[in-house]
Amino acid sequence: MRPADYDAPLTVAAGAARDYLAGVPDARVAAATYDAQRLRAALDRPLPDGPTDPATVVRDLAADVADGLVAMQSGRYFGWVIGGSLPAAVAADWLVSAWDQNSGMYVIAPGEAVVEEVAGRWLLDLLGLPAHASFGFVTGGQGANTTALAVARHAVLRSVGWDVEADGLQGAPRVRVLVGEERHSTVDRALRLLGFGASTAEVVPADGQGRMDPQALRAVLRATPGTAPTIVVAQAGNVNTGSVDPLRAVGEAAREAGAWLHVDGAIGLWVAASPTLRPLLDGYDLADSWAADAHKLLNVPYDCGLVVTAHPAEHRAALGMTASYLQPAVGGERDQVDYGPEASRRGRGFPVYAALRSLGRSGVADMVEGCCAMARLFGELLAAEPDVEVLCEITLNQVLVRFRDGVDDDAHTRAVVAAVQEDGTCWVSGTTWHGVAAMRISVANWRTDEADVRRSVAAMLRCRDGLR
Ligand SMILES: *Cc1c(COP(=O)(O)O)cnc(C)c1O
Repeated sequence: MRPADYDAPLTVAAGAARDYLAGVPDARVAAATYDAQRLRAALDRPLPDGPTDPATVVRDLAADVADGLVAMQSGRYFGWVIGGSLPAAVAADWLVSAWDQNSGMYVIAPGEAVVEEVAGRWLLDLLGLPAHASFGFVTGGQGANTTALAVARHAVLRSVGWDVEADGLQGAPRVRVLVGEERHSTVDRALRLLGFGASTAEVVPADGQGRMDPQALRAVLRATPGTAPTIVVAQAGNVNTGSVDPLRAVGEAAREAGAWLHVDGAIGLWVAASPTLRPLLDGYDLADSWAADAHKLLNVPYDCGLVVTAHPAEHRAALGMTASYLQPAVGGERDQVDYGPEASRRGRGFPVYAALRSLGRSGVADMVEGCCAMARLFGELLAAEPDVEVLCEITLNQVLVRFRDGVDDDAHTRAVVAAVQEDGTCWVSGTTWHGVAAMRISVANWRTDEADVRRSVAAMLRCRDGLR
């Protein structure tokens, strides 16, 4: 293999990527054509005994998997909470692979370390978080929640004289963990991974929108008085309704109890980038740590999450790593490895830097406000239908609706969701919200415009009519 060997596969990849992205706006947004058997038939060759020409490998890969690619970059993909990816971020991400920087430490990857440091500071500024805060670029919301709760675990146990990094949880003072009833399931998994166990968490009731009840939080905190180390996990942006916990009241209660407050803002922390929407997060500055997903509303390619803590020394104490063969930065440079659970990793700072620079402050605000505005438009257009009920207050980018046929509304709603998925104009997922079936619409893509929403609503109504 000679260096020139990169030319042909990269040229093929660039062409395939351009063709794919150019087709996204008009692509059918549906899962209906998938067929795992057909995919296997195309892809499951015998492992070759010898080499294959790299350009051929890439060309065939793009062709063979094409049927199995979901157009989730489409402005009409509203499943789960899926960001698109901004042009500058995708292009920068190509370079991440080409440069192949092991982005663990400053001495190994100084360029990435500084880009990440700048991108992180830009994010703190943009999101109105403390300038002295520490941050890490992790895999996503799961990584951010897990990292933040590891820092919380360190801090609350250290405050009672226990060194959890050295001695673990065996024999440690009991830590109280309070979570909202409608927390994201990744919080539970973080508690499992950190040795707390998911079912030891004390669950604070939520209201009909999924917001933690701050009175109930106070009551639960008071139920076991004393100085037990305590962690409260709140949420900005429920994955179904988009609702935000009343963070000021929650933060004040947590402060009074001396608890560490973590805010899972995978979706909702981004509204802090918008001066008009930031008031939705009132009180978020009372938290000790925050999680956000850059591959959701910031629209960078997978994968990228952001963890921020107001306690840099605790962050490093909980996550920092040393080894005889490693070479920590001297002179105050930033070692990426000290802020997340990974050692070697790709340079997640590059696409974030590119996204932020290409949009600027106003561009990020416009993108986030745009997603929320398109969610409201969905709500208005659907609420105008007598048989459609909007189940949530649309404050963020999430919409929950229910279709009634007067016979079996759950079955009817599920049938409409299935018909929409089959139709392919847009894609939505289904959910169950407080015991009833609902269609879930999540707008998190920079591409989504009014025409996409109107076309999607028309498709939904056409699918509903087809069931009559
Ligand atoms: C999406 C989401 C997560 C998990 O994020 P991943 O990027 O999938 O790991 C956590 N919390 C909330 C509220 C989310 O919406």
